[in-house]
Amino acid sequence: MARRSQGPAIGIDLGTTYSCVAVWRHDRAEIIPNDQGNRTTPSYVAFSETERLIGGSAKNLVAMNPTNTIFDAKRLIGRRFSDPLVQSDKELWPFKVIAGPDDKPMIVVNYKGEEKKFVAEEISSMVLTKMKETAEAFLGLTVKNVVITVPAYFNDSQRQATKDAGTISGLNVLRIIVEPTAAAIAYGLDKKFSSSNEKKNVLIFDLGGGTFDVSLLTMENSVFKVKAIAGDTHLGGEDFDNRIVNHCAQEFKRRHKRDIRMDPRALRRLRTSCERAKKNLSSASETTIGIDCLYDGIDFDYKITRAKFEELNMDLFYKCIKHVKDCLEDAQMEKESMDDVVLVGGSTRIPKVQQMLQDFFNGKELCKSIHPDEAIASGAAIQAAILTGQGNAEVQDILLCEVTPLSLGVHMEGDVMSVIIPRNTAIPTKKESRFVTCSDNQTSVAIQVFEGERARTTDNNLLGKFELSGIPPAPRGVAKITICFDIDANGILNVSAEDLTGGNKNNMTIINDKGRLSTEEIERMLREAEFFKAEDEQHRRKAEVKNALETYVYDMKSKMENDMNFCLKLTYSDKKKVEVAIELATDWLESNQLAGEDELKDKKKQVESICDPIIAKMYESQGSTAPKIDEVE
Ligand code: AMP
Repeated sequence: MARRSQGPAIGIDLGTTYSCVAVWRHDRAEIIPNDQGNRTTPSYVAFSETERLIGGSAKNLVAMNPTNTIFDAKRLIGRRFSDPLVQSDKELWPFKVIAGPDDKPMIVVNYKGEEKKFVAEEISSMVLTKMKETAEAFLGLTVKNVVITVPAYFNDSQRQATKDAGTISGLNVLRIIVEPTAAAIAYGLDKKFSSSNEKKNVLIFDLGGGTFDVSLLTMENSVFKVKAIAGDTHLGGEDFDNRIVNHCAQEFKRRHKRDIRMDPRALRRLRTSCERAKKNLSSASETTIGIDCLYDGIDFDYKITRAKFEELNMDLFYKCIKHVKDCLEDAQMEKESMDDVVLVGGSTRIPKVQQMLQDFFNGKELCKSIHPDEAIASGAAIQAAILTGQGNAEVQDILLCEVTPLSLGVHMEGDVMSVIIPRNTAIPTKKESRFVTCSDNQTSVAIQVFEGERARTTDNNLLGKFELSGIPPAPRGVAKITICFDIDANGILNVSAEDLTGGNKNNMTIINDKGRLSTEEIERMLREAEFFKAEDEQHRRKAEVKNALETYVYDMKSKMENDMNFCLKLTYSDKKKVEVAIELATDWLESNQLAGEDELKDKKKQVESICDPIIAKMYESQGSTAPKIDEVE
C-alpha cells in the first residue's frame, strides 16, 4: 500500500456535544463534512459487544445502549471526581463514572463483554481521531498537525488534558486556542477587518453545548487583541436540557409515582426528546415531548411552552448576561463602545438569550452573520494555516494576542494568595517574583501553585505543589527564592523555583496532583488507541466480508426464486445443488452471527465453489461469459 503524503494542518472545534473540523484551502477556511455528509459530528463514543463506534453512529445507539454510549467527556476533562460539578453531572449521565487514582474520574463501560475504564482524555482522543480521519478522507492525505480549541475559561489542567487527548489520538497539537478567539478570527476575516485600519471593538458571545465564553477583542490592522474574557466552563445547552429533563422526571413522578431517574435508558430517551423540544422552542411557541413506554410500560406525553422553558432556565440566562457585564468591566469598556456583538454556539439560537443580550446592549442589532456551529473550527483552521505558513497574505499578517483567564499565584503564610500573573495578562508571558524564608534555618520551601481570584488560597484552585530543598541554613528573611511562572502560547503553565542565596539553581517543574496524565500514561494510551484503531479496522473488514457473503447468497437466492429465465437454463441437478448450497449458507449465516473474518471468507469460497462453476457452465452453453462478482479481499 502506498503511503499517503502529509496533508495540511487542520483546525478542530472539540465541542461538548458536537465537534467540527475545517481546513484552509483555496484561500478560505473550508468545513469538512463527515462520512454521513454532516458538517458537525456528535462527540459520542459507543462501545458494544462487537465494536466501537464514534460520532453519528454512536449517538444513534444511545437509546439502545445507554450505559456504554459516552458523551460529555469535555465536562469531565481536567476535573477531579470529587468536583461538585462532576458529582451533579454524574446523576444525569446514563453511563457510570467512578473515582480513579488521584481522584481522577474514570468512565466505566462494557466493551466486547469485558469491563473497561477510560479517562476523559481517551474518550476525547477517540472523537479527535474521528475528526482526523474525516479530514484525511476528504483531503486524500495524511493529517498530523492540528490546532484544537478550548473554552476560554478552561484552566491549565483542562487545557493540558485536551492537548494530551490530541497526543493520544496521534496528532501533533500545534496550538491550543480559545473558542471565542477562534470565532473572532473567522469573523474578522469575514468582515475584512484584517485589511482595515479602523479599530473595532467586538464582543463574542459564545454559548455552546456545555460551555459559555464571552470575549472582548479589539481588531485593528490585522492585530486581534483579546482585552478580557469571562465565562463558565459548565454552562450551556446541556444545562438547559437538564432543566427540562428534571422537570419532566418530576412530572412523571407526580403523575405515576415512579422515579425514571433509576433507569438509564428511560433517562437517555427523555434527554433526547428534551433536547429536540428545546430546539423546537427556538422557532415554535409550544411543543410536545412524547415518548412511548418511557418507564414500566407507561407512555409520557407532555406539552411544554416556550415560556415554561424560559422560566426553567431564567437564572442560567441571567448568569450569561452577568458574565457579559463582568467582561466589559474587566476590559474597562462601556457597552456603548462595542461595534459588534457576535453570536457563536448552537445555544445562541434561543430567542430569550438573544433578546436579553440585545436588551442589555440597549437594543443593538446582534451579529448573526457567522455560522454559529462552524465559526470556531474555521478560526482554528485559519490559525493552523498561519502557524504552518500555509495561508495567503491576508491571513499571514494576522497577529493573535490572547490573555490568561485566571490569576495565577503561590500560597503564602497566613493563607494568602500572592498573585504572580494577574488574569487577563497577554500570553505567552513569563513573570518572576522574589520571596524570602519565613523561619530561621529553613532549608526547604513548599511551593503551592494556585489559580483563582480570591484573596485566600484555600478559596482558590490548587494546580500543584513541589518542594525546593537544599537551602543553606540562615536566619529568617535572609534566604531569597525566585519563583518563575512561564505561560506558553497554549496557555499552559510551567513553574520553576530557584534558591538564589546558596547559588543553587534548583529548578523544578510543577508536580501534578490534579491527576494529569504522565508521559508514560500518555504513551500507554497512545498504544491502546492504535490497538482500538486496529480493532475497528478489523471489524470494518469483517463487516465487508460478511456483507459480500450475504450479497452473494441473497442475490443467488433471489435469482433462483424470481428469475425464471435463469432457472430454466439450469439442469435439474445443478438447480438442486445451488438451492442446497444457498440454504445451507443462509442457515449458517443465521446461526453464526459472530463468525470471524476468515470463517466468513471460507464460507464464501465454499458457496462460490459450488455455484460459480454451475453458472459459468450455463453461460458457456449460451455462448457468453458469466458476469463477475467483485472480490472482497
Ligand atoms: P455547539 O457546542 O456550539 O455545537 O452547540 C450545541 C448546543 O446548541 C447543543 O446543546 C444544542 O442542543 C444547542 N442548539 C442547537 N440548535 C439549537 C436551537 N435551534 N435552539 C436551541 N439550542 C440549540
